[in-house]
Amino acid sequence: MASDTDEDVPDVPIVCSECETTSRVPLPELEATLARHNDRRHGGDPVAEVDPDLADTLADLVAEDLQLLDE
Ligand SMILES: [Zn+2]
Repeated sequence: MASDTDEDVPDVPIVCSECETTSRVPLPELEATLARHNDRRHGGDPVAEVDPDLADTLADLVAEDLQLLDE
């Protein structure tokens, strides 16, 4: 399996305040990873989430992307 495109995928930090764990997951796997963790560890409660500090940065990056696309 070719994985050349993996290098272009940004890792997103996620935190779980209840487990006190952090990890990084590729953006395309973000939702599935959070859902799987919360489902297995927390009975479906949305405990694990994108690092709040990074959520703002992520929003900025997305905004920048949109601006770039607009030019
Ligand atoms: Zn957890």
